[in-house]
Amino acid sequence: MHQFPVLNGELVIGGVPLSRLAARVGQTPFYAYDRRLLATRVAELRSLLPDGVRLHYAMKANPMPALVCHMARLVDGIDVASAGELKVALDAGANPEEISFAGPGKGRGELRQAVAAGILINIESPREIDELAAISADAGLAARVAVRVNPDFELKSSGMKMGGGARQFGVDAEQVPELLAGIGRAGLAFEGFHLFAGSQNLRAEAIVEAQIKSYELALRLSSFAPASVRFLNLGGGFGIPYFPGERPLELAPVAAGLATIAERAAHELPAARLVIELGRYLVGEAGVYVSRIIDRKVSRGQVFLVADGGLHHHLSASGNFGQVIRKNYPVAIGNRLGAPTSITASVVGPLCTPLDLLADRMPLADAQPGDLVVIFQSGAYGLSASPQAFLGHPTCLEVLV
Ligand SMILES: *Cc1c(COP(=O)(O)O)cnc(C)c1O
Repeated sequence: MHQFPVLNGELVIGGVPLSRLAARVGQTPFYAYDRRLLATRVAELRSLLPDGVRLHYAMKANPMPALVCHMARLVDGIDVASAGELKVALDAGANPEEISFAGPGKGRGELRQAVAAGILINIESPREIDELAAISADAGLAARVAVRVNPDFELKSSGMKMGGGARQFGVDAEQVPELLAGIGRAGLAFEGFHLFAGSQNLRAEAIVEAQIKSYELALRLSSFAPASVRFLNLGGGFGIPYFPGERPLELAPVAAGLATIAERAAHELPAARLVIELGRYLVGEAGVYVSRIIDRKVSRGQVFLVADGGLHHHLSASGNFGQVIRKNYPVAIGNRLGAPTSITASVVGPLCTPLDLLADRMPLADAQPGDLVVIFQSGAYGLSASPQAFLGHPTCLEVLV
C-alpha cells in the first residue's frame, strides 16, 4: 500500500513512524487515520469534479468525532443515518443546511430532532410524512424534505446493492408521484430527491450508468413535485481496492459523466444543487488498524501469529461484514517493511472463535511477539462496524494524526 511513506523499514502515519505512534497512543490495538491523506483525497476528487457538483461525506463509513470534524471542513455537507450521527455532525460544526438524514425506520424522536436542527430529511415511507406533518405543526417549522427513491434499476457490479428490486430503502419509483402529492398536502418544505443505488463499486462505467439513470428518473419524477427541485443527491458507491487483482476506480469517466449531468441539469432542473455522497472512498484508504503480536505458534506446520486485536474491532477484515467469500485485506508487519516476506503465516486475534482471522496464510515478514501488524484500507467500516463487546476484551482507541 503506497499511500503511506516508509522510513527505516517502518510505516509512517501522519508523519509519525509506527512504533513511535504506538508508544504515543499508549496501547494496542488502535486505529490511526491520516489527516493529510484525507485532505489529499478530497482535494484530488474536487479537482476532477465539475463545478456545481457538491461533495457530501456519508459519516456511517467512519463516525469518529475528530475525523468528522476534519471532514466537515473539507466537504460541502454531511449525510447522517441516525440521530446519534446527527449529533456528531452538529458537534463537528457542520452547517445544518447541508446535513441530510437517510435511513429506514426513522423514529419519532429522531425526526423531531432533525426538524428542530433544520436539516434535510430523506423521506422513505408515507408514515414519515404523517410524523413530520405533526412534528412541523408542533414545532412551528416546516420540515425540509427530499424523497429517497428506490429506483427501478440496480447499480451493476456493486459490492452491496441498495436500490432496485424490492428494498427496505426509499420509496419505489412507481409510488413516488403519490407520495409527492402527500408531501404537498402536508405542507412540508419539499426540496428534491435522493437516490443511492449501491456501494463499493470499482467499475466507472457502472457508476456513470447508474448516475445518469438516477438523474433521468429524478427528472421524470420532478413533474409530480409540489415545488421545484433544489436538491438532487445522485448517490455514490465509489469503491476502493481491497483484494489482489482489484484496480482503483478510474475517476475521469465518472467526472465526465457528472459533467454531462451538470450541463443538462443547468437547463432541465435549474434550481437544483447536485450532490454526490461518498463514505468509504473518502476515508477508507487513509486508515490503518494496528495490533501487536502476542504469541507465535506453529500448528501442524502452519504458523499462527496471535495478535491482541481481532474481529471484535475489525469485523470487515475478518471477512464477516457482508462478504460472500473471505479474502485477505492487505496486511503487513508495519515495523519490518524492509524485511522480505519470507514466511507464510496466519494472523489471528485473541477471540475463542475460528472466525477471528485477520490474515489467512499470507506471505509476511518473519514476525515475532512485540511486532506490529498493520491492516490497510481500514478507514471505513472499521471500529463502528464491529462487535466490540464480544468476548470482553479491552476496547480499541482511535487517533487522527
Ligand atoms: C452507506 C451509505 C453511503 C456510503 O456508502 P459508501 O460505500 O461508504 O460510499 C452513502 N449513502 C447512503 C444512503 C448510505 O446508506
